[in-house]
Amino acid sequence: ARADIGLIGLGTMGSALALNIAEKGFTVAVWNRTTEKTHAFVEEAGDLAANVIATDTLEDLAAALKGPRAIILMVPAGQPVDDQIEALDPYLGPDDMVIDAGNANFRDTMRRMEVLERPFLGIGVSGGEDGARHGPAIMGGGDPDLWARVAPILTAIAASFEGTPCANLMGENGAGHFVKAVHNGIEYADMQLIAEVYGLMRDGLAMEAPQVGEVFEGWNNGRLSSFLIETSAKVALAHDTATDGPLLDVIVDAAGQKGTGRWTAIEAQHLGTPIPVIEAAVAARNMSAQRGLRADLAATFGGVDRIDIPIDILEAALTCGKILCYAQGFDMLRAAARAFDWSLKPEVIARNWRAGCIIRSAMLDDMAEAFEAAPDTTLMAAPYFSDILSETIGALRQTVIAATSAGLPVPAMAAALAYFDTMRQARGTANMIQGQRDYFGLHGFVRMDTGDKDQHGPWADD
Ligand code: NDP
Repeated sequence: ARADIGLIGLGTMGSALALNIAEKGFTVAVWNRTTEKTHAFVEEAGDLAANVIATDTLEDLAAALKGPRAIILMVPAGQPVDDQIEALDPYLGPDDMVIDAGNANFRDTMRRMEVLERPFLGIGVSGGEDGARHGPAIMGGGDPDLWARVAPILTAIAASFEGTPCANLMGENGAGHFVKAVHNGIEYADMQLIAEVYGLMRDGLAMEAPQVGEVFEGWNNGRLSSFLIETSAKVALAHDTATDGPLLDVIVDAAGQKGTGRWTAIEAQHLGTPIPVIEAAVAARNMSAQRGLRADLAATFGGVDRIDIPIDILEAALTCGKILCYAQGFDMLRAAARAFDWSLKPEVIARNWRAGCIIRSAMLDDMAEAFEAAPDTTLMAAPYFSDILSETIGALRQTVIAATSAGLPVPAMAAALAYFDTMRQARGTANMIQGQRDYFGLHGFVRMDTGDKDQHGPWADD
């Protein structure tokens, strides 16, 4: 046996990870359900094939590995993971470790750790195929001793930010997959905010896709500098040879999703933590899928107006919305740490997201610094970010007003603004809710003047 680590599932992510591991000088033994793919993988691995051991059976895979074994699963989340663990089991010893690196639901990871009688780690891997090949961000969850066993390989293959690897243990049991889900929730929101700004430029300012691309390119040199802005610039600038026009104009406006954003929204509801920007982004993808209905309703209710708004106001509005969305994501992580008894550290998470992952951005470095100074504060209250919010909130408001006046949808930006306005309102309106609840359900309320609890209105006597 000479392989340092095993890997099952030579799909998009698994093959890229295996090549990455091989390139870093480790020997990786691979197995895939469809054996031809394993052989094709080795043939295409070129020089790196020297560090790859192809195996046709799970027995051979186990035999190829140094003990105690560590095997990464990179198969679709859900039942395939359980099936694969079961199929492997006869060939493994009690100390051999299985690492689920797919996009598992963290509740599945927690269940597996409970029921499996073997070492198990759940790691979130972000960065898509390119990240997996050249350096992803890795969010680990589980026992620190188990993490330590594979940390040399995981940190070697991960992206690094100024020399610091973006592979860290986030916390206990399901924490890694949870942090990955929230990462994806933030990713949904970040993408949606950018799409909304694109929509305002396209429909409100009558700009062509390449012009939008140039704007995004410019923004990528400033505070908004990020992988997603860079990506959006490239998408908007891309040319379609078939139509000799912008590629963006021939892409169908219905967004796909694999579920991680939805999980984040569902978990936020379970935790009772507000993430309205992420929820709006998930809802926006669902609305985008209803193309037929949208076409019918467009015919019934008519079109939209142009807007008049400077591009730098849109840039500031996007900056503001982005900070509010990240504030919600990090607040949700804090709520989860309390609920699941995880030792999540926001500064470690922010640092881990600075490179390799889809939401990597210049701002995450500032977020890491803000949380280092004050791990328990919301970003909205961290001095650096509260200054930017004060400076940009007017632009977000101006943008939402312009968009809504023209009938242009900006659900995520509007959610960000409503969140800000709600959270900076010392006296809210839930006294009315409590009055209503007491009227029809005698749920009781707390008096503002005396602090007395379980109070009722005069209707209680009727
Ligand atoms: P692919 O569809 O490219 O590959 C899936 C792999 O899993 C194939 O090797 C396939 O084998 C194998 N497989 C499928 N079903 C089973 C099964 N029932 N039992 C055993 N093996 C099976 O998927 P990806 O590489 O894109 O995704 C893998 C995981 O990584 C998923 O959890 C995904 O959510 C996650 N992920 C994906 C990202 C991406 O950008 N694509 C980013 C981050 C995470 P076969 O060749 O036999 O079909």
